[in-house]
Amino acid sequence: MKKLQYERPVITRLNTGVTNKFGTKTAFTPVTHVDGNEVKTLIANYGSPLFVISEQTIRKTFKDANRAFTTRYPKVQFAWSYKTNYINAVCNVFHQEGSWAEVVSGFEYHKALNNDVPGSKIIFNGPDKTEADLRLAIENNSLIHIDHLDELYLIKELAVEMNKKPRVAIRVNMDTGVYPIWDRFGFNYENGQAWDAINKIMLNDKMELVGLHSHIGTFMLSPNAYGIAASKLSDLALGIKKKYKKNIQYLDLGGGFASKNTLKGSYLQGVDTSPTFDQYAEAISTAILNAGFLEEELPLLILESGRSLIDEAGSLLGSVISNKRLSDGRRATIMDFGVNILFTSFWYDHKISPAQDFSQYTEDAVLYGPLCMNIDVIRENITLPPLKRDDHVVVHTVGAYNMTQWMQFIAMRPAVVMIDMDEKPHIIRRRETLSTIESVEMMPEYLKKFKL
Ligand SMILES: *Cc1c(COP(=O)(O)O)cnc(C)c1O
Repeated sequence: MKKLQYERPVITRLNTGVTNKFGTKTAFTPVTHVDGNEVKTLIANYGSPLFVISEQTIRKTFKDANRAFTTRYPKVQFAWSYKTNYINAVCNVFHQEGSWAEVVSGFEYHKALNNDVPGSKIIFNGPDKTEADLRLAIENNSLIHIDHLDELYLIKELAVEMNKKPRVAIRVNMDTGVYPIWDRFGFNYENGQAWDAINKIMLNDKMELVGLHSHIGTFMLSPNAYGIAASKLSDLALGIKKKYKKNIQYLDLGGGFASKNTLKGSYLQGVDTSPTFDQYAEAISTAILNAGFLEEELPLLILESGRSLIDEAGSLLGSVISNKRLSDGRRATIMDFGVNILFTSFWYDHKISPAQDFSQYTEDAVLYGPLCMNIDVIRENITLPPLKRDDHVVVHTVGAYNMTQWMQFIAMRPAVVMIDMDEKPHIIRRRETLSTIESVEMMPEYLKKFKL
């Protein structure tokens, strides 16, 4: 007979559901499957932890967002924000749905080109574009969104040298009533920097000013802030029309719509508080439609939504390594995934569901990751049924930023699987191995040998 493990007994009260002002807490239900695939089988086949992406959820979310805007405004174009999740299979689902690419580095720009996005449908944002990046973007007729004057002058020089007229927009930052203002990016609206940049472009005819861009923040809970941004960009566009007789082809309102996650410290759940696509779309389209454009001169509305389109489609499957008692008697559960791969646990209280049946009792616990580092806390306090070694959990709403901001620290990064429309799983990123990591290391000859 296998020896039973001894755990020092502690007496704690188990809860059958805490009441809050809405009544008793909703009972937990196990989440045993993701898109028709059993969690246990996915983990057996692809390892634990494992990121799973639902193609059905991506397409449905995209269609919801697109419908919210196209039913209110005549010309709408989405551009997929690569940094939010740039696994190529994910990008291509968005490209199949009609999204252009929005990139913020040379690396991401090349990724979009490799995915066969036409250069003219790549929006190049961000403060760090090298001269080589800019040359390539000009060569490919991409949309270059200028962040600062040094970049503006460099593009001007390259335009003369290459004898081309680059298509550019300027990024505009502004007061939308949400603070702090993200004024480190682009040119300020209120203090006249934006007009200064516009004049510099319009007065010398080396570039074509095709658009105006703003990205006012991220996880913005106020649709009204977008209304203000859209009004201010429209005001600039109408001013350009008046002063230079030039129609601005598009207004790009950037990203930043909230996903259904719950921010740390928030009393209510994200599913109940985050605005809907309809609310954002209403604020933006009303502002542009009321700004005073002639109907035939209405600019194209571009959106670079990231997290709101992909967060819900991603889940992280993981397993329990161990339970222990902390010195003060609290229950601690150690999982096989930590902040190294779940970077967003620094600011969200993710919904976490057990993946198998459990008792009706719950106990507050601290949820730790597997790293040998004190910062590796997934949740300071979560109410869960007691889980035992090798039990599985599903962490919900993790599709945004985790698969790009994850760190190869102490452990290697796990595989990513996409479940297709017919509920068939496909590996879209292999689990890293020692050779993945060592393939970029070099050992100087003189360090190859040692004697101990
Ligand atoms: C990050 C980023 C986005 C996407 O932001 P979300 O908050 O994920 O929607 C869009 N545009 C720009 C310029 C960005 O930097």
